[in-house]
Amino acid sequence: MAKQANLGDLEIVSSPLLSVLQDLHSKYKSLQEGAVANYIPELAKVNPDLFSICIVTVDGQVYEVGDYQQLFTIQSMSKVFAYGLALEDHGRDYVLTRVGVEPTGEAFNSIILDERSKRPYNPMVNAGAIATTSLIKGDGATERLNRVLEMFRRYTGHDVFVDMSVFTSERSTGHRNRAMAHLMLNFGMIDQNIEEALDLYFKQCAVIVNCHDLAVMAATLANKGINPITGERAVDHQYIKDILSVMYTCGMYNFAGEWAYTVGIPAKSGVCGGIFAVVPNQIGIGVFSPPLDVRGNSVRGVEVCQALSQQLCLHLFECGGSSKIKSEE
Ligand code: GLU
Repeated sequence: MAKQANLGDLEIVSSPLLSVLQDLHSKYKSLQEGAVANYIPELAKVNPDLFSICIVTVDGQVYEVGDYQQLFTIQSMSKVFAYGLALEDHGRDYVLTRVGVEPTGEAFNSIILDERSKRPYNPMVNAGAIATTSLIKGDGATERLNRVLEMFRRYTGHDVFVDMSVFTSERSTGHRNRAMAHLMLNFGMIDQNIEEALDLYFKQCAVIVNCHDLAVMAATLANKGINPITGERAVDHQYIKDILSVMYTCGMYNFAGEWAYTVGIPAKSGVCGGIFAVVPNQIGIGVFSPPLDVRGNSVRGVEVCQALSQQLCLHLFECGGSSKIKSEE
């Protein structure tokens, strides 16, 4: 099933964008490698055959194929948006005192802090994401959660909800994340009640989205922080460069360097099997396919993004922002 909005305004050199997505979907749907995440018991119940690809342009056109309405929890991809909210709440300088911007080369759930500064390395690994979420302002847990949900509403263009089964499943098994929070409390990197910070982090990870939403959220970042479908600003323009920089260097777990080298655009993946990628001033990409490789990235998602980058010339240092996607004057 494919949907297309106003293909006439968009032209791809050699092939319409929707056909590119359809071809990639048929090519990779038979790829059977990887395994769905099971360390959060609820996530193990997902159907591994689900597969969707969606592109949204900064002028609000939508191209999508496959199961793009299938709901799933956003997981690690939430870290990007929470980082933006923490930056808005405290400013760049303060956030940098609590969370660094260095890639770790380690797994997303490593229990490590920067030896010298005692900060978590970056906001895309779990330790950094928990520290980031603990910075979100609000008078009590409910107000903080409401601010997170309101932020996701601006990015997606609709109200969002927490999947309480996934939340409780992670809260009752997330001992590594709890250990990280205790370590950061020890070094004064988290101020507030750590159980409250962890609850908010687990809830933000359990926010329900679909592949279409991922592409709209990515397109919002591509469009300087304005949702291209609703026209509403989701995040202060001044923090787009901070957000995209950490996505570029740290967004794809310990595959981030190879991703930057081969795909060449800021992206973030999650253990749900989602990946979203941002081509600044052009498009947002969402891919969903639950089976993961050993680093935790969606197997089909990585293949699709590598192919899209090559076919559409999306690598930032190859095409310098002039990809084969051209809006008509
Ligand atoms: N909630 C998950 C965790 O903290 C997110 C992990 C991910 O998607 O990388 O383990």
